[in-house]
Amino acid sequence: MTQDLVRSLFAAEFDNSILDRMDDSATFELEGRLAFTTDCHVVSPYFFPGGDIGRLALTGTVNDLAMTGAFPLYVAAGFIIEEGFPRESLGRIARSMQEAAAEARVQVVAGDTKVVERGAADGIFITTSGLGLVPPGVNITGSAASPGDVVILSGTVGDHGVAVMSRREGMRFETAIESDCAPLGELVRRMLSASDRVRVLRDPTRGGLAAALNEIAASSGVAIEIDEASLPLKPEVGAACEVLGLDPLTLANEGKLVAMVDPEDAGRVLAAMKTSPMGAAAAVIGTVERADRPRVYVRTAAGSRRALMMPSGEQLPRIC
Ligand code: MG
Repeated sequence: MTQDLVRSLFAAEFDNSILDRMDDSATFELEGRLAFTTDCHVVSPYFFPGGDIGRLALTGTVNDLAMTGAFPLYVAAGFIIEEGFPRESLGRIARSMQEAAAEARVQVVAGDTKVVERGAADGIFITTSGLGLVPPGVNITGSAASPGDVVILSGTVGDHGVAVMSRREGMRFETAIESDCAPLGELVRRMLSASDRVRVLRDPTRGGLAAALNEIAASSGVAIEIDEASLPLKPEVGAACEVLGLDPLTLANEGKLVAMVDPEDAGRVLAAMKTSPMGAAAAVIGTVERADRPRVYVRTAAGSRRALMMPSGEQLPRIC
């Protein structure tokens, strides 16, 4: 049955010449510096407004590749499926995963499927690993932020977190809040062709912007100040956060990136971002400062400055 499932569903959907060989591992030629990453996806519910676990698993991994400046190329996917999971749902998930792969211009070239007994998994879990190629001269790392750098965010915060939460809580909002779940490789390509002084890229997924900025501040040994008033936020997401008692700065995003860019190139990079649908709402949100110890601050709309801490514990379990 697994053989049949793999051939008729996964292989048929992901169809490409490398996968079709059905060997024990995928083989291909690559030359240069590689980026390699892996990610587990356990989001609940597995269908949510704006996406599903398949799209999320694909984009999560290609975005981690893109955050090192790599061109994502190949993905391997592992599926852990609970006995009794509807085949129709599995088909939908595989299809949306392939649609995201086509958007990201990557191929799913290897995979594995395990079915576990009822109760041993919650529907479906997906692990994806990705391989990408870093163009020569590109060296993007979380430890490269330096004082004076401009902090740019590619779009609105909190959309994914609120979309998943609202479905989980059975909430209905006047405007449908959809996950931002999307591949960012093309946006990164545009940024890197506008400037060779993009120093840091990070996708603020679990833990949101608060976690991403605190990680960067710690790796780079700098302070980062962001300006609350300049943060792109959809009014309906802001309203939902108030109702649910959530801080948009700690909510997961799945189609956004934060960048630290040399001040001289910031305008050029921002303009390049705005030419991509993924960066249409991009904005400068802050600056990197010299500091004795790593810190992240928020300049509030009222003009005061508060520390933005690393979110402790898991505010929203199984958000991705
Ligand atoms: Mg990441």
